[in-house]
Formats: sequence, C-alpha cells, structure tokens
Amino acid sequence: MKLDTKAIRYLTAEDWRVLSAVEMGSKNHELVPTSLVTQIAGLRSGSGVHKSISNLAKVGLIAKMKNAKYDGYRLTYGGLDYLALNTHRKSSSIYSVGNQIGVGKESDIYVVASSSGDQRVLKIHRLGRISFRTVKANRDYLRNRNSGSWMYMSRLAAMKEYAFMKVLRDNGFPVPEPIAQSRHTVVMSLVDAFPLRQISSIPDPAGLYAELLALIVQLASFGLIHGDFNEFNILVEEIATPATKSTLSSPSGAPAQTDNTLVQPSTDSTDSSPPPAVTLVPTIIDFPQMISIDHTDAIFYFDRDVNCIKRFFSRRFHFTSDEPGPFFSDAIKHVRKRLDVEVEASGFSRKMAKELDAYMKEVGVDGDAVEGAGEEENSEGEGDSEENSGDEAKETSLSDFNTHFENKSMPSTITRQGLPL
Ligand code: ADP
Ligand code: MG
Repeated sequence: MKLDTKAIRYLTAEDWRVLSAVEMGSKNHELVPTSLVTQIAGLRSGSGVHKSISNLAKVGLIAKMKNAKYDGYRLTYGGLDYLALNTHRKSSSIYSVGNQIGVGKESDIYVVASSSGDQRVLKIHRLGRISFRTVKANRDYLRNRNSGSWMYMSRLAAMKEYAFMKVLRDNGFPVPEPIAQSRHTVVMSLVDAFPLRQISSIPDPAGLYAELLALIVQLASFGLIHGDFNEFNILVEEIATPATKSTLSSPSGAPAQTDNTLVQPSTDSTDSSPPPAVTLVPTIIDFPQMISIDHTDAIFYFDRDVNCIKRFFSRRFHFTSDEPGPFFSDAIKHVRKRLDVEVEASGFSRKMAKELDAYMKEVGVDGDAVEGAGEEENSEGEGDSEENSGDEAKETSLSDFNTHFENKSMPSTITRQGLPL
C-alpha cells in the first residue's frame, strides 16, 4: 500500500538532507556550524541550503543556540523524531501515527499503524528530557558529548530495549514483538491489554502471582533480571471463551491475540461460581534497565522485583503467599542460557551498557518501582508517578507530525482516557 507522501510533503528532499546533516554533525559538535551542514549535506552553499535551514528551524526541527560564538544549529528532539519516523516510514514499519497512550518520565508511547493497518506501538525514548539538568557534565561518559548526550543516551536506551525484547521474544518470553528500531525509537507489537496497575480485582490472585514470580525466576535462569518488574510494566490480557463474561474488574476485556507460551498459565480461575474459562496472560514490557545476573547488585534488583509483586498483590488484591522467596541463589542454580551474553553479541555492547547504566545511576532513573510503590497506599486508583510527570522541556511534539499522517482508526480499547493511570 502506498505511503501517504503528503504527510511530510512540506519537507523537500533538500530539507531532509540538511536535517540528516545536522544529525551527523551533532556527533562531534554541540552546535553544528552552518558551513559543516552544507558540506555534509553535499549541497552547494547558497540560498538552497539556507532556505532548508530556515524551513527546518521554523518548524522546530533544528535550533540556534543562544550566545553561540559562531553560526550553527543543533538538532532538537523534534528533528530526531522526524528522522526516526522517516526511517520507519521508508522501511514500512510505520504508516500512520495515532493516539499517544503513555507519557513516562523518559518516554512517550504512541499507537501507530502499518500500511496494512496493523496496530503497533512506537516507544520514543526521551532520556534527558528532565534528568539532564541534574547531570554533572564532567563525567567520563558525558565528556565531549555535552548536550548531545540526550540524543546518545536515548538511542542507547532504544537499542537496549530492542535488543532485549528480541532475545526474550526469540526465547519464548511473553514480551511484545520487536519490529524495528531507529535512533531513539522502538516499534513493537501492540499488546491489547491493561497494565496490572489498572486492574482492581482478579478471580485468582494466587495463580497470577505464582506466574509472575515464576517469570522472574525464569528470567534469572536465562541470565537476566528485569529490574523494573512492577504493575506498570506488566500488561494483563484476559483470554476468555466467548460464553464467559469478563472476570477482571476493569474496562472491557481484551481480545485474544498472544502466542506467549514460555510459562504455561496456571491461572485458570477456581472461583466458587461455575468455572469460567478465563486465562490471565501477562506480557512484560519496558527493558532499558534490564541487567545481567552477573551485575554487582543483581541480588538487590532480583529481590526488589520479587518484592514489588509481593507488595502489589498484598495491597491491591489482599493476597499474601505463605511461601518465602523466590531467592536469587536458587534462581541461578540452573542457568539454562545466557541471554545477557547473547545481547552483547547482538550489537548492544558491554561498553554501551556501561554508559547507559552510568547515566541511569547518575540521574536516578531507577524505574517506576520505587516511586509508584510508595504512593500506592494513599492514592489507590489515582494517578501517580509514572504517567504524570512534567513534560516541560519537550520540543516539537509529534502531534504536529500526526496531523500530516493519514490518521487511521485507532483501537478504542487502548485509549486510556478516563482510566486511572
Ligand atoms: P516507560 O519506560 O516510560 O515506563 P513503558 O515501556 O513502560 O515506558 O510504557 C509506558 C506505558 O505504555 C505502559 O505502562 C503501557 O501502558 C503502555 N505500553 C507500552 N508498550 C506497550 C505495548 N507494546 N502495548 C500496549 N501498551 C504499551
Ligand atoms: Mg514502564
């Protein structure tokens, strides 16, 4: 199916070349000199280049810096978004961009569609949107990168997320299907399900609880710790036979669509009422903070993941298990495969992992777990940490871009408006 080229028709081929040139120049220059832009773009200096520069600056894709010592431009988040979207558009990963379904501290989530109408999720990593204000610029991993670090770190986060999602998916773990990655963005399959956070009751908490803890253990036996295994990052799909009515106390049930099979769900309801043929199928998302079982703080993160589930099930479903553990030392007794090692081989190198790790430590990006958990007691059902964070430093928003895409119909079930976040 033909891509709607009208979508980006106001950017000429020259504009794209100039935008790419600013991106390339940013690798070594905080502010890319105009002469370098011209040179990289391979265009003759003259009114054409200047016209493109002015076009791009007008729509906020590139920007001048105040008090600069020379004439030059930097790429904005908007500019990087456009470049990534253009790549996804060219590779047919994205045809249209729909609703925004999530705003995290460090990411924006959109429902997008392929040209054949398949709904997908576009996750745009935005490291540095808030946090870079607190980063000390003289750290090793930031040296010579300066303001470009947001771009680099966001790209690392996207690469890491894609790499981990891929090995997990390939090994049968219930995660979205990774479709594409470009720059700071990842395209993945849409999981038509609600975050556990939004579910107020389930028929058999024990079953889902056991399954989630088993997943944590399985991950460890594959060399990995999620590191942010909480109610925001577990999407729960209810798979029911047509005759069965919904058993989740949440907005309407989601249609079946998953083929995740690593852990056979043991959650068939054993309610007192006639046994409903309903299975709760969790899908795990959000991987930029995943760590190897070799990490020096592995036990801490493993225990924290376990305790997140314990605490949530106790508070939300009033379910507490009598069984202690699981324990990290047991979980790694029978390591079946080293996906942490596989990821390194896939292009997300150890050096990159270290750089991202250092950044996350520095700015305190430590997942949703800590903040979300603390507030739960007082604000049950009300918005809290994750999706409510400020969005101050945002530059050109994707909504400008959306209006240029043909907006295909988006799923009504996944629009979170009016639902507690
Ligand atoms: P963050 O790093 O900002 O926490 P997440 O990857 O956890 O980003 O996504 C934020 C929210 O977006 C999730 O809680 C979930 O509601 C939604 N979401 C993310 N990925 C998907 C997906 N593949 N399918 C459906 N919803 C998703
Ligand atoms: Mg999350």
